[in-house]
Amino acid sequence: MDNKNYVPNLFGSMVFNENTMKERLPKQTYKDLKKAIENNSELNLEIANVIANAMKDWALEKGVTHFTHWFQPMTGITAEKHDAFIQPTADGNIIMEFSGKELIKGEPDASSFPSGGLRATFEARGYTAWDPTSYAFIKDNILCIPTVFMSYTGEVLDKKTPLLRSMEALNKQALRILKLFGKDNVKRVTTTVGPEQEYFLVDKEYYSKRLDLMLTGRTLLGAKAPKGQELEDHYFGNIKTRVAAYMEDLDRELWKLGVLAKTKHNEVAPAQHELAPIFASTNISADHNQLTMELMKKIADKHGLVCLLHEKPFEGINGSGKHNNWSLSTDLGENLLDPGKKPEDNVQFLTFLCAVIKAVDEYQDLLRISVANAGNDHRLGANEAPPAIVSIFLGDHLEAVLESIENSSVYASEKATKMELGVDIIPKFTKDTTDRNRTSPFAFTGNKFEFRMLGSTFSVSGPNIVLNTIAAEALEQFADTLEAAPDFKTALDDLIKSTIQKHKRIIFNGNNYSDEWVEEAEKRGLLNLKTTVDALPHFVDEKNIALFEKHNIFTNVEMHSRYEILLEEYSKVLNIEALTTVDMVRRQILPAVTSFMKELSDTIISKKSVGLSTSCDMEKGTLTQVSTFANKLYEEVEKLNTLLTKAEERKDAYDNANFYKSEVIPAMEATRAACDGLEVLVGENYWPIPTYSDLIFRI
Ligand code: ADP
Ligand code: MG
Repeated sequence: MDNKNYVPNLFGSMVFNENTMKERLPKQTYKDLKKAIENNSELNLEIANVIANAMKDWALEKGVTHFTHWFQPMTGITAEKHDAFIQPTADGNIIMEFSGKELIKGEPDASSFPSGGLRATFEARGYTAWDPTSYAFIKDNILCIPTVFMSYTGEVLDKKTPLLRSMEALNKQALRILKLFGKDNVKRVTTTVGPEQEYFLVDKEYYSKRLDLMLTGRTLLGAKAPKGQELEDHYFGNIKTRVAAYMEDLDRELWKLGVLAKTKHNEVAPAQHELAPIFASTNISADHNQLTMELMKKIADKHGLVCLLHEKPFEGINGSGKHNNWSLSTDLGENLLDPGKKPEDNVQFLTFLCAVIKAVDEYQDLLRISVANAGNDHRLGANEAPPAIVSIFLGDHLEAVLESIENSSVYASEKATKMELGVDIIPKFTKDTTDRNRTSPFAFTGNKFEFRMLGSTFSVSGPNIVLNTIAAEALEQFADTLEAAPDFKTALDDLIKSTIQKHKRIIFNGNNYSDEWVEEAEKRGLLNLKTTVDALPHFVDEKNIALFEKHNIFTNVEMHSRYEILLEEYSKVLNIEALTTVDMVRRQILPAVTSFMKELSDTIISKKSVGLSTSCDMEKGTLTQVSTFANKLYEEVEKLNTLLTKAEERKDAYDNANFYKSEVIPAMEATRAACDGLEVLVGENYWPIPTYSDLIFRI
């Protein structure tokens, strides 16, 4: 085997990428396709036919029999429906065919995907349309065509369409700003994303004995193991052989699909790990992150493991998040959030930086909403992930620079020079050494922002739709002001200064986990939308609807439908969790506890019957404790069950979600507390489900 070229040859081998296209498409077709992508224009059917045919031949050579339009409905995961290439011929045989029409457009039944009342079932048709900016690929012997998904009447039903639109909105406004800096040669600004993905691995055998893990992805019951993460011996620790084999397999499969899997390591919690890819254009990154999550699960299965992507699989140890590293990059390769080497780039950098600061301050609510779901509510603000309060970390150095601009003082550095633009700026920012503030929700890390509030199950599309759109809005306002100004330099100077003054409240370099910050943030007037139910209603605030409508991302109707979907999803998740809790307690835990109590009682009776003179203190003591907890558990689970019947009565989606939040969650917690109290008293052989020690340490 050619070891040296093993990985390069493997990489992208299952992707109809640039190389494959160049190799297999007629020159003119390739050019036409590139042009269509560049200009965002439609492909004509003739060209599509040629591309489809080349794709099919390539796929057939790799043993593929079917194709699918691969799309991202609002469920947050991907969807596919497989069609064989076969076409019957007159003589009763078949040929393998794939037409341009089939490549460009599909018509799946849209009625079974969430739409938030956008569609009645009688107009259930939806269609998928090829997104040529993301390469087709082969997965499980299926040719997958990345597509957008919309209703027949044109309403957006997926996460990709608004993401592409938001990238377009940002491109438009960023180009206006660059033009003002004399950069006419830049043709396109793209947002880039590198999502760091956290996950847990547990043994499949234990997993399959836990109804809660199987149905909800997290443990609804379970006493803490004697050991947790307190020894801090897992982060970056030695990777167990079984896990290492899994990671190796995962890397290879991802590389075949062109995913730039780069870094892997153990995370803080036992059995928790992370994978980080090299960043890519946001659209590709979103597709790749979906593939990564899918493969993480599939490959775990091959290794007798189960990959848990839930935000909080285990109580008492850290849950999993996803860090969304985000920046802006031009077609000439310039990173617009890189302070750069030349002073004039600094000013341009400061303009983009200020736009982001303004955007984050003005749309804290949208950023918070973009990371809201039932699972993430367990993490945000729980001293393991950023709080629900959105703020920006800039580092002392950059903050000092902004302060000096605001006060028109010379930045206190030897290298400080007076810029012509009137702002005092140092020629080159050094990377801040304190950029390791892991508590900040939105941290500037040298040449990008790291949005750290995402939960591990999230599609990165949602948060990036928000980021791109709010940044586009701020840049648009900047461009409007600057283009109209008689003197660009003075206007820019004023703009940067006033933006800092107006929005500096969003900058916070301290410990985001502290109680003092909660108080301080309140004084600053920052939002603290603690739970999903607190956050979601702001999605349809007038200012937010106006924003998305203005940039053609969502219509008013689409926003209300999305709001509805999010509320419903929240209630459904909690309903399933509560039902599962009731089921496990009634059918597994209480019967097991009864057996244990019987054993204790029988022992007491037997001991007495043989006329032992020693006491039955141990048996009686244990029986009393167990019996007390068992009664408590019975009482709590009955209460929970009664609440669930009441939950069904509510018709309004918000009322319903709020009921789950304020009534059902506390009841579930009380049930759990009683159950966990029992777990540590009941004999190991009696306890019917694997324990935290089994799940976290036995792998
Ligand atoms: P850390 O753990 O310190 O956050 P990692 O190396 O694990 O660092 O992750 C950093 C992530 O940031 C990687 O996915 C990387 O590709 C991404 N990244 C780096 N530069 C950019 C950029 N310009 N735009 C978007 N993402 C970026
Ligand atoms: Mg990170």
